[in-house]
Amino acid sequence: MRGKTQDWAWCQKGAKTRKILPRFWKKPLRMLKNTEETEIDLPKIGPLPVRLRPSARASRLKLRIDPAFDGVEIVVPTGISRKVALSMLDQHSDWVAAHIQRLPDRVQFVPGAWIPFLGEDHAIRAVPDAKRGVWAEAGVIWVSGLPEHTNRRVTDFLKKQAKLEIAPRAQEYADQIGKKINRISLKDTRTRWGSCSSNGNLAFSWRLVLAPEDVLDYVVAHEVAHLQELNHSARFWAVVDDLYGPSKKQQHWLKRNGSALHRYGAGS
Ligand SMILES: [Zn+2]
Repeated sequence: MRGKTQDWAWCQKGAKTRKILPRFWKKPLRMLKNTEETEIDLPKIGPLPVRLRPSARASRLKLRIDPAFDGVEIVVPTGISRKVALSMLDQHSDWVAAHIQRLPDRVQFVPGAWIPFLGEDHAIRAVPDAKRGVWAEAGVIWVSGLPEHTNRRVTDFLKKQAKLEIAPRAQEYADQIGKKINRISLKDTRTRWGSCSSNGNLAFSWRLVLAPEDVLDYVVAHEVAHLQELNHSARFWAVVDDLYGPSKKQQHWLKRNGSALHRYGAGS
């Protein structure tokens, strides 16, 4: 499932930079070969982390806010120079400023913090002497051990819970349509909540465990439906409807709230 965490902010037709340059123009334009991370000073924002990501598949320059990165990502199609790509920031600096300011605060997994777990707010509390690892009970995520390990331990706990929530649901949905799942993996993807490959491998963002249960459930049904239809055709959506039922509300939730889920934890 693509592009659900963020709406792509801006698309622009690939500038035909090369064609309009006169023949005597010697200075070669600097093209982007690898992903580059830099910081650019913008008037209304100050220093802003910028990631330039070259893409052979993209046909247009794209600019989006990356909430996990606290900055912006620019997807740069082949043939567009670094300079042209960066000029997008000047053109859209108001838009960027507005969206960066609107990012929810980052919430670290530390004692005292509140985080959503299956959509319900939970407080993180340290119980250094308990020898029970990490567990959730009555709106609290209790964490044993040294407080400086809380972040890592909560992250591990959430990943484990994500797998426990996702795997049995995926299996049940796959059984319903008579398909086999090859492997299920948990990732920390930025622009996808899940994916399905032609050899039956499913991948999900562990952050789905922060979302309400019905939203997590919908994403699982969505990816399993791809085992039958590896596209987003009407036939695909009919499979989703059979497995899950109406899912507009859940899709809408992801669109509105998905990017905020990237603001939890130490970042990636
Ligand atoms: Zn999909």
